[in-house]
Amino acid sequence: MQEKQTVDLDVQTLSLVFEHIDIAAVIASISREIVAINKAAEVLFGYENSEVVNQSTRMLYATDVEYTLQGQQRYYERSRLLNDVYNTEYKRKSGKVFTGQTSAGAIKNNAGEALFFIALIKDDSARTAAEEALNQLHSITSSRELDFEQRVSAILRLGAEHFELPIGIFSKIEGNEYEIKQAIHPDNQLEIGMRFDLDLTYCWHVYHSNKVEGFHHVAQSEIRHHPCYKAFQLEAYIGAPIFVDGKPYGTLNFSSPTPVRPFINQDYELIRLFSEWVGHEIARNNDFQELELAHKTMERMANTDFLTGLANRACSEKALAHYIELNQKKNTALSVAILDFDYFKSINDKYGHPVGDEVLKLFAQGVNALDAEDCHYGRWGGEEFIAIYVNHSVEQASHQLEALRHYIVSHPVFHNELAVSATVSGGLTQYQSGECSDSILNRADALLYKAKRDGRNRIEIG
Ligand code: GH3
Ligand code: MG
Ligand code: MG
Repeated sequence: MQEKQTVDLDVQTLSLVFEHIDIAAVIASISREIVAINKAAEVLFGYENSEVVNQSTRMLYATDVEYTLQGQQRYYERSRLLNDVYNTEYKRKSGKVFTGQTSAGAIKNNAGEALFFIALIKDDSARTAAEEALNQLHSITSSRELDFEQRVSAILRLGAEHFELPIGIFSKIEGNEYEIKQAIHPDNQLEIGMRFDLDLTYCWHVYHSNKVEGFHHVAQSEIRHHPCYKAFQLEAYIGAPIFVDGKPYGTLNFSSPTPVRPFINQDYELIRLFSEWVGHEIARNNDFQELELAHKTMERMANTDFLTGLANRACSEKALAHYIELNQKKNTALSVAILDFDYFKSINDKYGHPVGDEVLKLFAQGVNALDAEDCHYGRWGGEEFIAIYVNHSVEQASHQLEALRHYIVSHPVFHNELAVSATVSGGLTQYQSGECSDSILNRADALLYKAKRDGRNRIEIG
């Protein structure tokens, strides 16, 4: 009777000692029934203390074989408290098996008899899982088959599985606006483009500390009074800031309505790596887009006449060659006109070169005012322009040209409040099957000179 009291007292004392340490402690009787487990063991195995007391320790092992083996090696009456550390396969309430680093043995009375067993278990699976997740991150980020969006999706799935937090979000933050760029949610409750007030989100903490933040059980954490908890009622959260070229961009975060195991250093490191990669990838994407824009600008500049904004000679030559090819393949109708300002030299001489430039720009304004389809207008050189009409009869083309000629005559350029009018002459001709570009251009030129000879301000058709 005396001895039994001592035992009870020791178990209680021991339970108190272990209650607040981070390592899971399981105390069992010599018949291997659980007497008590501490808080860390409750988290590790997923059971409440009351669910396991008086139950066989068998329930904590992955297999019967493991349970029996440990019984033979350590948990028997004459066993000694060993100071070695070994790996054992355990099982959580959820059924999930994990590897635990264990040190264990018997606590004895003065007579050398075992009174109860104690096992101290450190969950090693989080570390190995983090290593595994890192490997997967590497294969996702180095995959050539996936585009950026698909890779972020893969990272969200990987994180959700690894942290056991089913909600994963990649967000962009501007001012107090939190916008979902990509997300996974078990009930698909989150959509791209959804917006929230940043100060109501869990990410507010990450964004303001500029570092990874994790709360495995929000109700027991320092943020339980923050409005985010009331707004979303998520019990577990881990998030990391995303920086693009050193500037804050948004966050990568995972969460769950139920608490999870405490996060370990490797978890913080892993999500930091996730977000670092996303940040680099956004920066690379931006660089790529800038490069593409610069390339497009260069291409546009290479094809555009600086003064008028119309196509330049090189671009117009390419267009003509292209339409001739189209005519040969599909027999599409094609007409070409060369236009030239009349007495342009004297405009320059009388009013100055800048006024001449304004007159040249007038041609482009006339073209834009026409708003015509299947036409190409370009500056051929000096005060000469080319017009190419596809799928137009010569009559339709001449209507367009007459409209343009009329626009120019009726829109004087003002110089010192003086209206300076200009006129154009042109030669319009239809493409004849099989001829080369020089041939049609020479014919258009000849018609232009005829228009000049015949009094200017007219379109000669031939
Ligand atoms: P015509 O009616 O017979 O065509 O006479 P023209 O004076 O228009 O023809 P000419 O070929 O004698 O003169 C063309 C002038 O156009 C000469 C050139 O200085 C001027 N010119 C060429 N390019 C530009 C330009 O970009 N801006 C200005 N302002 N003038 C230009
Ligand atoms: Mg001229
Ligand atoms: Mg000329």
